[in-house]
Amino acid sequence: MTKMKSLTAHLLTVSVASYAFFGIISEAYPRDVAKPTQTPSIQQAIDQAYAHYKTVTDGTNASYISYLAKADTKLYGIAVVTTDGKIFKAGDADYLFPVESIAKVFTLAHVLKTQGSDALQKKIGVNATGLPFNSALAIELNNDKLTGSPPPGNPLVNAGAIAAVSLVEGDTPDAKWEALFNTASAFAGHKLTLNKDVYNSEMADNEHNLAIAVLLRSYNYLYADPAETIDVYTRECSYNVTAKDLAVMGATLASGGINPVTHQSVTDAATSARVLAVMATAGLYNTSGEWLYNVGLPAKSGVGGGIVAVVPGKMAIAVYSSPLDAAGNSVRGQMAIKSIAHDLGLNIFTVPTK
Ligand code: GLN
Repeated sequence: MTKMKSLTAHLLTVSVASYAFFGIISEAYPRDVAKPTQTPSIQQAIDQAYAHYKTVTDGTNASYISYLAKADTKLYGIAVVTTDGKIFKAGDADYLFPVESIAKVFTLAHVLKTQGSDALQKKIGVNATGLPFNSALAIELNNDKLTGSPPPGNPLVNAGAIAAVSLVEGDTPDAKWEALFNTASAFAGHKLTLNKDVYNSEMADNEHNLAIAVLLRSYNYLYADPAETIDVYTRECSYNVTAKDLAVMGATLASGGINPVTHQSVTDAATSARVLAVMATAGLYNTSGEWLYNVGLPAKSGVGGGIVAVVPGKMAIAVYSSPLDAAGNSVRGQMAIKSIAHDLGLNIFTVPTK
């Protein structure tokens, strides 16, 4: 009960602060209005974004997961990986941090591939909830008796991601975890590692996610045991990545499922397209609309401070910086990606000039 109260208090505090952060993101980027006369190189665009936002101190670490609360807020790294396998970096791009919600992207790819697109729509849903990532209210609002939509909502918020984990093949939590971890590792191009400290820290304080799982089960939209599902879900939030890993993982989606560094076929083009569509509608939770409106790229964030944006057919841009805005998205991560996307002209909705 006390933990529930503190989570609610955290969300209330951060939502009051959200207007301030929105202003900061818009105002701290004056180059937004002036299109560069000459398109810079990718390395120049990264270096500029790195330098421009290095001193930004806005945002706060996720406080409801004790491991994340202690992250070094000064760390800041940017990586871009192109679909032809070139890697560009600035700052702490090789620093390992917990993937958190960005794992939901690769679980979505796994579930789409193994269960099919219809199953995703009928058993989880693909509409934005417009509510915070851990909302239990969204489950009630999407209750099919009221709206005709499946209550998990979509696979990039906690409820839908927990339902997605429950759909993964395997008789035991270990078997399910292995399937998911292998998929994520193939996206990264090397064997990732589980951060046991993060896993233990989250498992010690996980009542809210467990409540979501039980609520979904009550509506017959959880497809395995709630406690076992939350165990696997928490493992997937707890593997470590670097900004460079995230850029490789995103670039694999940008190239229709072929990892541009290892050349392994990790998923197919149709699956990549559907994953990117869900990232566009729900990758930054309740601020996904503002993000797409301002930046024009599908992206996904995690409360560990990572964020990755994908430019289909071209590249992925990933940033690590732990302080978050009210919705749970890295403040500097959003600023840096917005800057790079603008300078390189990457908005997918912009009609190319002849
Ligand atoms: N492990 C976190 C949670 O379930 C992930 C949330 C996130 O990154 N948005 O609350």
